[in-house]
Formats: sequence, structure tokens, C-alpha cells
Amino acid sequence: MEVITLQTSIEKIPRVGVAYAKKLKKFGIKTVQDLLFYFPARYDDFSQIVTIAEARNKLGETACVQGEIIEIETTKSFYNRMAITKAVIQDLTAQINVMWFNQPYLEKSLKENDFICLAGKVSLSKEGLYFNSPAYERINEIGENEELTHTGRIVPVYSETRGVTSRWLRYVIKPLLYRFCDQIQESLPKEIIKKNKFLPIQEAVWQLHFPDSFEHADAAKARFSFEELFLIQLNVLKEKIRLMQKKAHACPMDADLMKKFTDSLPFQLTDSQKKCAFAILKDLEKNVPMSRLLEGDVGSGKTVVATMAALNVVKGHAASAKGFGEPKQVAFMAPTEILAKQHFKTVSEALKNFDITLGLMTGKDARIYKEGETTEVSKKSLLGDLENGQLDIVIGTHSLIQKGVEFKDLALVILDEQHRFGVEQRDHLIKNKKLVPHLLSMTATPIPRTLALTVYGDLDLSLIDEMPANRKKIKTILVEPSQRKEAYDFIRKEVAGGKGVFVIFPKIDSAASKLKEAIAKGGEITGSFVPQNYTPMSLSALAISEVKALKDEYERLSKEVFPDLRITMLHGKMKPAEKERIMLDFKKGEIDILLSTSVVEVGVDVPRATIMMIEGAERFGLSQLHQFRGRVGRNDMQSYCFLFTTDPSMLNRKRLKALVESNNGFELAEKDLEIRGPGSLYGTVQSGIPDMAMQGLSNIFLVEKTRAAAKEILEKDPELKEYPELKERLKAFQARIHFE
Ligand code: ADP
Ligand code: MG
Repeated sequence: MEVITLQTSIEKIPRVGVAYAKKLKKFGIKTVQDLLFYFPARYDDFSQIVTIAEARNKLGETACVQGEIIEIETTKSFYNRMAITKAVIQDLTAQINVMWFNQPYLEKSLKENDFICLAGKVSLSKEGLYFNSPAYERINEIGENEELTHTGRIVPVYSETRGVTSRWLRYVIKPLLYRFCDQIQESLPKEIIKKNKFLPIQEAVWQLHFPDSFEHADAAKARFSFEELFLIQLNVLKEKIRLMQKKAHACPMDADLMKKFTDSLPFQLTDSQKKCAFAILKDLEKNVPMSRLLEGDVGSGKTVVATMAALNVVKGHAASAKGFGEPKQVAFMAPTEILAKQHFKTVSEALKNFDITLGLMTGKDARIYKEGETTEVSKKSLLGDLENGQLDIVIGTHSLIQKGVEFKDLALVILDEQHRFGVEQRDHLIKNKKLVPHLLSMTATPIPRTLALTVYGDLDLSLIDEMPANRKKIKTILVEPSQRKEAYDFIRKEVAGGKGVFVIFPKIDSAASKLKEAIAKGGEITGSFVPQNYTPMSLSALAISEVKALKDEYERLSKEVFPDLRITMLHGKMKPAEKERIMLDFKKGEIDILLSTSVVEVGVDVPRATIMMIEGAERFGLSQLHQFRGRVGRNDMQSYCFLFTTDPSMLNRKRLKALVESNNGFELAEKDLEIRGPGSLYGTVQSGIPDMAMQGLSNIFLVEKTRAAAKEILEKDPELKEYPELKERLKAFQARIHFE
């Protein structure tokens, strides 16, 4: 027989077997050790055992009692053949009735005269006191309170997935703890345990599953919160060290060129923009790869800063006395096609006097801008130009880092509205190359300090903390349904003055419009959108109660409200070429009102637009609303943001109020954190981050402590040679998590 160890595959554990092993694999549990590290999500406090008479005083509350089974019977319900088990339990003070549903195996496991411990909510019916489906556990005698697993203690509750219950997990984990807990190797360095007075790992694992008290559970949690954050810190700091050992293109700063560029702009850079541009240009001069995050609220002018960096990389070599001779390339990546095309236009316009060849590559399109002309080319020819160095700057979506894209001499990667580039993606770009490209990442999403120090801890931060001077504060207004007409009148006035209007909808189709379509087709009316008790009469009622949808409103606005204005729809289901044409028309002023879904959420720059009207505003998150609002106010004209809600009571929503009160993305992110809790903000960080680390992430002291500890260890021992167990854990951790 094989000896079972912590590393043994769980299917070899008798209580688990092949079928359960398969289910557990879905939560990433493969070995005995993995199972012991599958921690509960919360606890039920069944630690106070009372007599049945005392339970009478706990109606509606949770109680735990012990007694003898004096009657038990399982029957099948007449209607649906469900097993119903009824029992009567008695102690020296009183009796209580119990029933369980759909647990036919109880018939075999519980018998009359057995002693039992029960925990659950106490209820009262005509027949007296009863428990409905309580937790239960057989005991040898009344008064037994040692070695209880499911009752009579603080009971762990795990996050369950179909087919694996908390009860089953307790039943499997407990004996494994008895057998293997002592063998778990300590992973934290001794000095850290000592300094922080942490529980040793064996005890912490035990106390997390079956705590002696809530204080014990908290102490165990504190240890693992620290450990998980510490692993994140080790991970990012190691990556930082790894990159620092690589070489990058040194791109000397060409001050004359930069001056010539800023002089050519129709505006003055803000001090913040200058400061950030300088920090970036200084980084680019070094021959170690830059990893910098440029953070600035929507509309703060990040694109122009990135454009300066790109220009300097491409043309700056001329200034070099040492003659870093060869021209270099820049890749500029945007999250959407709309944005990539916009950047292509902006950048080619801004650099038109600088003799630069620019490429655009999105899903299907490929274009080249050269000497003032843009031409469509085949993707193949664009790829060829990239590879032989004919192209200086290429702008595109993720297709830029796909297989088959080769650069001659890529020196800088710019990422717009994405925080981070996966390690693999950067590695992919440099395969077969000696030099690593510099990385400039840009975002309008404020990153709280705790995250900047953890998940983004390998990036240096530059902050544009001021808006261009010409901007007026956007007026944000919560609009009552009764004021809709007034809002429309206002829109009409603005349009007459040549301004552009966005109207955003949470969805394209409404149930009512789908229903109409179905009726028109004469087909059978089915689907999740069909309301119960549907009658044609209920159609109009439905349309009123429902959140406004793009297509319905397009009909209504273009036919009834603004028949004389130029109104167009934009949504994600359209072809890229169509979306592009619409955006260009809107920019040029050939469209007055653009009705859109959230596809215009990030980055879109239409300076002539002054009104952002949002329907069903309560459907969007605060940062998303702030992003929408950032589509206007990009000029010296007064801009407005109108928020409409489906239900007037929503007007009082904290979230919408916060938006009215603040125009500052950083403040709003903090508010969001306050209103919705940490989960909301970290939604941007692709998960895989363990729960405990997540909780730890809201604790700046803990974050700073773990960062200092990780630094200290890595400075002493960058390869973690002295800490083999820690190194193992880190490896497993890296396999488990994936940052954005
Ligand atoms: P974001 O930081 O949100 O990406 P953009 O780079 O799109 O912002 O810039 C928003 C608008 O502000 C653009 O139309 C841009 O030309 C303009 N802009 C940028 N910097 C300045 C400035 N210093 N003064 C005036 N307008 C500016
Ligand atoms: Mg932008």
C-alpha cells in the first residue's frame, strides 16, 4: 500500500475517492495539502449548548441542544415522493420535534435511542417546539462536548459548489487534520513569525478549520492574510528585480525636439503633464526597462504625454552624441478598436510635421500614415513594414501582440487604459531579442495606495493631478422624470449652438421591443424576456416600467422628439467600419445626438460634445459613470451631465449623489470603496487573488508591513535559497494567480 503524505493525490483518500476528487479539482484542490489549505469562508456559532427547555426562550434564534431520539420515521411525500424524516428528541427538561427534507439516508444513520446533538433555528408550531433541517451529529451521551464536528462548537462553513457540502468537507478534513496537520512545513521565515507573534502554521491551519474561539480564528486569519500579501509582494518585487537585470534601448532625450513638439500644440501643457513627461523621458534614457504607470483623471491629457515619449523614442536618436544610431519603434495599444482608430488620427495629426510613419492595425483593418496621407494596406504588407523597420509607430488593439507580429527594433510599448501588461505578453514581444521594450501604461482608474503597493507594486507611478486650465467644471444634474421635457429643450438649444450630445443606454433592446418584433413576425412568443401572464395589453405597461433601451429610444427621439435633428445609434453589435464612420461624423459635427451603449465608455475624445445624458444611471457603477461623464468637458465650453433613472426612488441613491457632488475620479473611487466595499474596486484586478489577501488589501498597515518584509528578505537572499519552503509556496502562488 502506498504511504499517504501531504502530497498524496486526494482521490487516494478513502472518504474522497475518484468522484469527489473530480469535484474538488474544480476548486484547484488536488492534494491532501491543498485540501487542508481550503479554508472556511465563515463560521456558525453553535458553541453554546442549552437544554431543550432553555431553547424555548430562543425562538427565532439559533440554538444547540443534545438529547435522545425517542421517535424517528421517514416517509415519502404524497405529491413529489420527497423523503421527509420526522423525529422527536428529548432531554431531561423537555422535547423538541425535528424534521429533515430530502435526506433519505437519515433513516439508516439515525435510530431510536441514539443520542444526538442538534443545531439550528428554533421555531414554534401548533405541535410545539421544532427544528427545521438542523445540523446534527450523533454523540455517545448527553453532555459530550469534545470532538464535535458539525454542532456544539464554532463550525466552519466553506464556500460550497454543487455536490460538495460544508458537512462533507468537515467530515473529510477533520481526520486529515489529525493525521497530517503536524507535517505541514512552516512557510514563513522564523524571524517574521517571531516578530509578529504569529501562530505557527500547523496551529493556524487547525484553528482556521476548527477554532477554539473566535479569537483563535482571527489570530489564524491574521497570519494567513499576512502570508498571502507577503507572497504577492515577493512576486512583484522579484519581477521588478528580474526586469532590472535586463537591458533596454537607451533613448536619449532630445530637448530641442520636445520643445519643437510642444510649441506645435494648440495649447500649453499643464505643469503636471510636463512633470510626468519629464519623468518618462528620463526613464527612457536608461538602458534598463522602464515600467511606469501614468495615472490621470479622465480628460487630464495623457495621450499627448504618451505621444511625446513616442516621438522621442523614434526621432531622439539623432540627438545622441554617442550615436545610438538605429531608429526605433513604438507600439501603442488601446483596449478597443474605436479608441485605436481615434489615437491613430490624433497621433498622426500631432506628428504630421515630424516625418514619422505610422501604422494602424485592428481586427481586420490595416492602414499606414506617411507624409500626410493615410492609405489602406493589407495586413500582410503592414506586418512586413513592421518587421523591416519601415514603420516607426504602430497603433492597434491586442492584435499587436499576436503571433506573427515581429518588430525590427521595438523600444517602447504604450498601453492605454490597461494597467498592466502580463509578464508573458512582454516576454512574447522580446522573444529572440536581447533588449526589453520600455513600458508606459496609462489609466484613468485611480489606484488606491494599497494596490499601488501590492498588485501594481512593480510599476513606478506618475500622476497627472491637474486638469488643463481652460476646463470648466461639468455640471452634473439628477433629473426627475417630470423634467424630461425641460432636458430635451435644453439639448435642442445646445445643438442649435453647434454642440454634440451623447445619450447612453444600459442596453440595446427592451423586452417590449423584442416582444413587438416577435408579434410582428407572427411567430411563437417565447424567451426569457416574455413576462409571465403576458397579454398584449401589458406591453405598454412593460415599456414604462422598464429601463430605457437604445433602439426604442432611437425610434422615439428621432420620430417624435427631435425629428429635425441628426440622430444616430452606436453599439457594440455594429461593424467596426460603421462605428468608425459614425465616430468621425460625430466628431466633425455631422451628427447632433449620438445614442450609444457603453462602447463609448473609455477614452473617446470628441471635444465639441457638451452634453452627456445617461439613461438608467442606477445601472452603472460609479467609476463607469465618471468615465461617461469624462466624454464631455474636454474643451473650454460649459458641459453638462444629466442622470436619468428608471425609478424615481433611485434618485436618492448614494452613488448618484456622490457623482453630483464630486468631479474628481480619485474621490469617487474612495466613495465607491465606502459604498460598495473593497470587492468593487478590485474588480479591475483579475481574480485569483485569495480571499484573505483581498481582505488584507484594505489594510494599509498590513500592506506596508508585508512590503517591508518582502524587501528585507529579497535584499538578503534574492533567490530565496535559505527559504526552500517559502520558495515552493511562491511558485504555487504564481501558478494560482494571474494579474490583469
Ligand atoms: P485622457 O487623459 O482622458 O486620455 P486625452 O488625452 O484624451 O485625455 O485629452 C483630452 C483632451 O484634452 C484632448 O482633446 C486633448 O487634445 C486636450 N488636451 C490635452 N492636454 C491639454 C492641455 N494642456 N490644455 C488643453 N487641452 C489639452
Ligand atoms: Mg485617454
